[in-house]
Amino acid sequence: MTTKQWTLAACQEMDARDPLAPLREQFDLPQGVIYLDGNSLGAAPKASLARARDVITQEWGVGLIRSWNTAGWFDLPRRLGDKLARLVGARDNEVVVTDTTSTNLFKLMAAALRQQQDKAPGRRVIVSERNNFPTDLYMTQGLIELLQSFGGAQYELRLIDGPQDIDAALTDEVAVLLLTHVNYQTGYMYDMADVTARAHAKGAVTVWDLCHSAGAVPVDLNGSGADYAVGCTYKYLNGGPGAPAFLWVHPRHQESFWQPLSGWWGHARPFAMEPQYDPHAGIKRYLCGTQAITSLAMVESGLDTFAATDMQQLRAKSLQLTTLFMELVTQECGEFGLVLNTPVDTRYRGSQVGYEHPQGFAVVQALIARGVIPDYREPQIMRFGFTPLYIRFEDVWHAVATLKQILQTREWDQPQFHRRGTVT
Ligand SMILES: *Cc1c(COP(=O)(O)O)cnc(C)c1O
Repeated sequence: MTTKQWTLAACQEMDARDPLAPLREQFDLPQGVIYLDGNSLGAAPKASLARARDVITQEWGVGLIRSWNTAGWFDLPRRLGDKLARLVGARDNEVVVTDTTSTNLFKLMAAALRQQQDKAPGRRVIVSERNNFPTDLYMTQGLIELLQSFGGAQYELRLIDGPQDIDAALTDEVAVLLLTHVNYQTGYMYDMADVTARAHAKGAVTVWDLCHSAGAVPVDLNGSGADYAVGCTYKYLNGGPGAPAFLWVHPRHQESFWQPLSGWWGHARPFAMEPQYDPHAGIKRYLCGTQAITSLAMVESGLDTFAATDMQQLRAKSLQLTTLFMELVTQECGEFGLVLNTPVDTRYRGSQVGYEHPQGFAVVQALIARGVIPDYREPQIMRFGFTPLYIRFEDVWHAVATLKQILQTREWDQPQFHRRGTVT
């Protein structure tokens, strides 16, 4: 790291020269808050309120049932999928926005296992990481249990400790490699093309979780040769709390199977009301049932906040922000025993920075009380997310200054900061 001394004035200068600075205007950010948790729930675009009002008062209120056709509700999962595709290196008709990440993962894991079952029936192992986001592991465990409980195949979920163990884990038993592209705890980012090629060389297919990648870092699904991907829209894509997730299937796999949640929205002719399931051609077969239209509509406002920029520009600013944060923490908070858990090498860094500290939970609560909002993840991790659409370099300065004060004065050591809510 550099030995340059950062100052508030230098940070303000960076803001003055930042070509993305005007994009912040698109967001409704509360006064006096520095929001470093866009990696958990993105901030509200100003356009979302108007959009939600229009959906409720006009499309629903006035249009009523007619809006399925006249307001384009029925085609929304696919149309938004096309819009989102550009941010993750996908093309038209490869992505749908629908359901949750957890549900979509179940569909894709089932599809990936069926694909392998046909090609290489002896492969019965799914490899993932011990510190993958738990729902990815839980959904896989549920699928394995389901397959087994009807006298079917015995699959095994094998967990590795980290990227260094991938090659050793890719044996000829492995059917699927399930990875989160940017790790939620550490911010470590995989080289998707490289890992995919290594998996393919060993006969495994890849399922990528893009929850901390979509809208945060450049992703090139087609260029990487990836097989399947899921991700959420409520984090860096600013789609709103619980907004529907997305899924991508490479065209070479789309029509091999139909996924097991074979609801009527994935049927070739949903309104023919036929008794027999017949999957829609292409990506639409990955839909299940009626969508949460109000929430889905707001995903579009989130996606539109990217319209005036691209992922390369955003990546450049994201790395400047995370690097500045790391350097400032070293400069200002060096004596407080914070342990960086995020790669310094920018090739392997997402858009977040984590520090471990024995009192991490209380420190994060004290920061929130002062209007600086990061979040806390077990074990001991203070997680700071940097959304280049609306975070300023000056915000980074103030966030670190506040962190320093809290650590210096032990402000965190008050009973109210040790109390845990249901959601941390
Ligand atoms: C946020 C996140 C999820 C969330 O899944 P939901 O079904 O939306 O609750 C899943 N996987 C990863 C890696 C995440 O970061």
